[in-house]
Amino acid sequence: MIKVQDLYKSFGETEVLKGITTEIKEGSVVAVIGPSGSGKSTFLRCLNYLEEPTSGRIWIGDDELTDPNTNKMKIRQKVGMVFQHFHLFPHKTVLENLTYAPITVKGIAKKEAEEIAMSLLKKVGLVEKAEAYPNRLSGGQKQRVAIARALAMEPKAMLFDEPTSALDPEMVKEVLDVMKDLSNTGMTMVIVTHEMGFAREAADRILFLDGGKIVEDASPKEFFTSPASERAKEFLKKVL
Ligand code: ADP
Ligand code: MG
Repeated sequence: MIKVQDLYKSFGETEVLKGITTEIKEGSVVAVIGPSGSGKSTFLRCLNYLEEPTSGRIWIGDDELTDPNTNKMKIRQKVGMVFQHFHLFPHKTVLENLTYAPITVKGIAKKEAEEIAMSLLKKVGLVEKAEAYPNRLSGGQKQRVAIARALAMEPKAMLFDEPTSALDPEMVKEVLDVMKDLSNTGMTMVIVTHEMGFAREAADRILFLDGGKIVEDASPKEFFTSPASERAKEFLKKVL
């Protein structure tokens, strides 16, 4: 579903990604773990072309994102993204947040977009909030709306960048539960997270990033019980 070949990304003099090569299979759930500043967000943002790679190639399905002739907007629609800080439209209701892009970008009829939106709100347990504005929602509710909004574009894959890091502790579970449900539907997911319990339980695979490189690529069981690298051992010592 997603293929990355020798991806490099620099900001000015700073080289952040230093040659990332990996493949993410359709329907798999990959947790990206690593110290702060290791390049996790930059990696995720490159997958969606929110950052332009300095070099290297990325494919989403059969389409090469890094081909200059590729319509980036079109491919970006296929890859949903959920951010730490929700990024909801504050002046739109929850329902409008979900229908805006399907109507304006995909050209779906308003009524149909609303039907899809309501079924997604049902999935994330927020039907009763359809007419509410984001400032009336809790952090956990906002993030569930953000997930539903991304799903409304019917993406082929979903990227999550620390989706629970900005939440009060009591709201983490409701968001992780929604993500768990989503993973059970066969959605391809790449999740940057500090929730080690979730990564261990929900991911098929762990990518451990350090210094802009994939230092380990392992099953959760391998990674958490017998990490191969010193760097992963050090990291786990601090977070577990
Ligand atoms: P992580 O998500 O693993 O904490 P990031 O990908 O956010 O790491 O950042 C990796 C490095 O790249 C950091 O040193 C950060 O300061 C730098 N960086 C990220 N985005 C930018 C940017 N837009 N301009 C300059 N430096 C950046
Ligand atoms: Mg980050």
